[in-house]
Amino acid sequence: MKDSDIEDAVARVLSGYTAPKSLEATVAKALTDLAKPGTQGCVWEAPKPADPIDDIIGGILTRELGEKNCSCCKAGSCTAPANCLSIPDDQAETLGDGIFATMDAAVEAAAEAQRQYLFCSMSARKRFIDGIREVFLNPALLERISRLAVEQTGMGNVAHKIIKNRLAAEKTPGIEDLTTEAQSGDDGLTLVELSAYGVIGAITPTTNPTETIICNAIGMLAAGNAVVFSPHPRARGVSLLAIKLINRKLAALGAPANLVVTVQAPSIENTNAMMAHPKVRMLVATGGPAIVKTVLSSGKKAIGAGAGNPPVVVDETADIPKAALDIVNGCSFDNNMPCVAEKELIAVAEIADFLTAELVRNGAHRLTDPAQIAALEKLVLTEKGGPQTGCVGKSAVWLLDKIGVKAAPETRIILIETGKDHPFVVEELMMPILPLVRVACVDEAIDLAVVLEHGNRHTAIMHSTNVRKLTKMAKLIQTTIFVKNGPSYAGLGVGGEGYATFTIAGPTGEGLTSARSFARRRKCVMVEALNVR
Ligand code: NAD
Repeated sequence: MKDSDIEDAVARVLSGYTAPKSLEATVAKALTDLAKPGTQGCVWEAPKPADPIDDIIGGILTRELGEKNCSCCKAGSCTAPANCLSIPDDQAETLGDGIFATMDAAVEAAAEAQRQYLFCSMSARKRFIDGIREVFLNPALLERISRLAVEQTGMGNVAHKIIKNRLAAEKTPGIEDLTTEAQSGDDGLTLVELSAYGVIGAITPTTNPTETIICNAIGMLAAGNAVVFSPHPRARGVSLLAIKLINRKLAALGAPANLVVTVQAPSIENTNAMMAHPKVRMLVATGGPAIVKTVLSSGKKAIGAGAGNPPVVVDETADIPKAALDIVNGCSFDNNMPCVAEKELIAVAEIADFLTAELVRNGAHRLTDPAQIAALEKLVLTEKGGPQTGCVGKSAVWLLDKIGVKAAPETRIILIETGKDHPFVVEELMMPILPLVRVACVDEAIDLAVVLEHGNRHTAIMHSTNVRKLTKMAKLIQTTIFVKNGPSYAGLGVGGEGYATFTIAGPTGEGLTSARSFARRRKCVMVEALNVR
């Protein structure tokens, strides 16, 4: 794009769009075509202009007129909008629609897209984000990406992934998250606005592959950025499919091409190339400690959304039957893969037996035989004491079966009473295994919870009706999410108030990330003017 092109586009945005003479005929034809029966959804594609500025003009034009460009059926034979998004599994990983052969090509394309995106109106941004939501709120697609994620990663539970994907599409904040500050006085008017970083490199986990892509794409695009995703290689197919779907939809809405991109073969090498690319201005890592440390050492602005080890405390004042149900629900959600899910239970001795009985009544399988516990440790722990990848996100029934215990199909978690130093307590397993540690009183429970959270500043849960103790734990544990008297997923927004995020940045302090986390505060100063007080 030349400087004169940019000036031209800025002038058009400022003056309210009027189509240049050269495109008036095309616009008129498009409008006529739109009115014809049977042409809804895929009606018109602007002729490829010789001048690159016309790409932008085409984009603005289609947005302003509600026009649709369809990238999947250039012949114009597609009549149903849904068809435009029907990408067969075997085409999900092919090049095109935001998928590039090299990281360099992906970043360059995203950089060019972001430059064009600068000239899109806020209402256009909103429309693009609404379009992304619409794609992933389609029930059949929700089921498909959730099923593919389970099939490809071997982790989690389709029904719960549907809930998580839906949550990401529905409750991730969009452009409304970007609020402007203004100061006026004798010296004029100053605005502080939330403005894009440019191209963001977003690294996504295997545990929430599409959820994170949907959530990050909405938040990052809302803030005016383009995104280069670096998905976990194990979730490659479904991640590429999600990115392709976003591109198809954005193309249909007339957005600049390649606002959301990735590479055909995600790998650690490609992630490193992305992090080192000079046109990537911000890094956002959602994953374990290694990748968070890597982005924080990159020398670039980075957001690190790292591991959690959420403790759940139950004291003697809690509604024990409800607490037990909430704990089983939270701990078994997507087979315990959410970073917010209950990972260890600390119970005050006075109610520990009652709580245990209620947990069992709600689907916990209690393991007490030392030989079976030893077999489970051998199955799920590595030599270093961390989780065996092959057991992460597996169901309680699957894990029990592997150690020769035939559990009822409705079994949801495995409950084991242990000491506070057991690896099941200390490590983030991401399996529906819930170690219970018995303590003398609520103050001891709170102190232990603080230790076991490891300073991740991630998530903690407490069941109590003692407001003073709830407040004490919330103050001492300093987690980004603190759920009182509910399942952990209420903190994500399922059955709890508030917006959703799948990038919970404890280490770098942004906490519950949203569009504003992916924006810079910039100041526009109008000197000696526009103060009308
Ligand atoms: P992971 O750390 O193995 O992988 C995360 C991403 O980082 C993947 O894309 C992976 O390919 C990449 N990666 C990992 N190490 C790398 C390295 N050395 N160089 C380059 N790239 C690297 O994590 P995972 O198993 O995919 O996800 C589970 C972890 O993520 C858990 O610890 C969980 O708590 C955490 N998590 C945190 C949040 C949050 O919002 N805080 C959300 C989801 C998951």
